[in-house]
Amino acid sequence: MSWHASVLTLFPEMFPGPLGISLLGKALEKNLWSLDVRDIREHGLGKHRSVDDTPAGGGPGMVMRADVACAAIDAARATHPGFPSLYLSPRGRPLTQSRVRELSAGPGVLLLCGRFEGLDQRAVEARSLEEVSLGDFVLAGGEIAAMALIEACVRLIPGVLGAEASPTEESFENGLLEYPQFTRPQSFEGRDVPDVLTQGNHKEIAKWRRSEAEALTRKVRPDLWALYEKKKP
Ligand code: SAH
Repeated sequence: MSWHASVLTLFPEMFPGPLGISLLGKALEKNLWSLDVRDIREHGLGKHRSVDDTPAGGGPGMVMRADVACAAIDAARATHPGFPSLYLSPRGRPLTQSRVRELSAGPGVLLLCGRFEGLDQRAVEARSLEEVSLGDFVLAGGEIAAMALIEACVRLIPGVLGAEASPTEESFENGLLEYPQFTRPQSFEGRDVPDVLTQGNHKEIAKWRRSEAEALTRKVRPDLWALYEKKKP
């Protein structure tokens, strides 16, 4: 059984979307991973298959109902028992590369995409959903966040990126942002590729890359830098 993503959304037509393109799309065709997308509205109530209602306590917008969301989750869990269940939410823990690695190494994910002002909190509690955020900003819905999570997981599946890909040296994998990359031409608008990269001394190249990665991380991500310094032997 290949890695599987099960997505619950009010907008199934958004999928596979970008996940069907390029290397991920080819991997999907080759069954290196698989996807099923279910419409939450199938579990909606009444003639209009209603999925939302006004927020308790007042305020703008609408909230996704817990009974509807849980019915959708239960139906998906029946086919994918034991899958980690995640709710994409700005109130969640920010997604990290190490969590992506864990999820990618497992059987797959069950993802609930919110809409409106979000989801009735009782659904999160009743189904023990792990809340994960894409970052400190607010999207209109969980779909793009779900796609980002799936893309990050699928590219780590062996065979998806092709032979030359080596995800171990990438940003976050060693607690640092990646060193800068260069390619031809040797000179571009008066800027040259750094000499050390063209002289073939691999020890010097590794040293230079490490120091560039450290300098960048210290400058733009003091949070990562502090963790890195603590872990450094
Ligand atoms: N009122 C909520 C935001 C709701 S946005 C709040 O202030 O916390 C509507 C839906 O978009 C959410 O239910 C969630 O599924 C998704 N969403 C918005 N921002 C997100 C983010 N940063 N990461 C993951 N999902 C997000």
